Amino acid sequence: MQCIITFDLHYRLNLFLRSIKKFMPELPEVETVCSGLRPHLCQRTFTNVLVREFQLRWLIPANLAEHLIGEQIVSIQRRGKYILIQTPKGILIIHLGMSGHLKILPLNYPLETHDHLDFIFDEQLCLRFHDPRKFGAILWTTEPIEQHRLLKNLGPEPLTAEFTAENFYARIHSRRRMIKTLIMDGHIVVGIGNIYASEALFVAGILPTRFAHQLSLTECRRLVNAIRQVLQQAIAQGGTSLKDFINTEGKPGYFAQALQVYGRVNQPCYRCQQLISQQLITQRMSYFCRHCQK
Ligand code: ZN
Repeated sequence: MQCIITFDLHYRLNLFLRSIKKFMPELPEVETVCSGLRPHLCQRTFTNVLVREFQLRWLIPANLAEHLIGEQIVSIQRRGKYILIQTPKGILIIHLGMSGHLKILPLNYPLETHDHLDFIFDEQLCLRFHDPRKFGAILWTTEPIEQHRLLKNLGPEPLTAEFTAENFYARIHSRRRMIKTLIMDGHIVVGIGNIYASEALFVAGILPTRFAHQLSLTECRRLVNAIRQVLQQAIAQGGTSLKDFINTEGKPGYFAQALQVYGRVNQPCYRCQQLISQQLITQRMSYFCRHCQK
């Protein structure tokens, strides 16, 4: 295998955004990683597992290799920001945390710092997990995935029929917290982090500082639609960018995603030309237009 395929999670951001330290993968990135992995890994068999660092967010199971060697990958799915790699005996759960990414490499490719783990397939292909901040997770389970401790209390998937304005309204209308904080809460809806929360609230015309219990059903409908729209656009862009990831230098392809407000403080709003504001909400910087959002 000559090419190196890198699914670097910074792919969709403008270069200037790469310097933002608190960047975390959100639903579209994880979805893009899953679709990128599927054609290369489905039907492959684990032939080795090399753990160099067990201490990620949680300890990597000591007997992970025992569970996986000989197992064939049946499917690769996503739930929230968890990557679920299904084999006949159980599920390998991968979470990219704050800075994790996965690379598909030829065997014996030189290691870099923070390359914590290699999964080897068919003695010819390596899936390498790299995570400088070590907030990612790699776990194994044989129980029904919907009952797993990390997944059982997750809210609905935003791109499914389950995520309706009525359900969303019911979940938030008694909550006295700022709406931006709530849409980033995985118990309310999964997969939305700081970037898409700012973007969706802009599209919906709702200020991030509004209290959830003050939102009407109509506003909830606008926000639900905006969340879907923003995530679908990002996935579509991620998907189209995948071809750029395949190059012999292993460098990801970058493209400029049109973020409407995120990272654009003091730049003119694309809709009204007034300057974009920023404010720290629950310790995360939020971006919005005071004129377009009420
Ligand atoms: Zn505006």
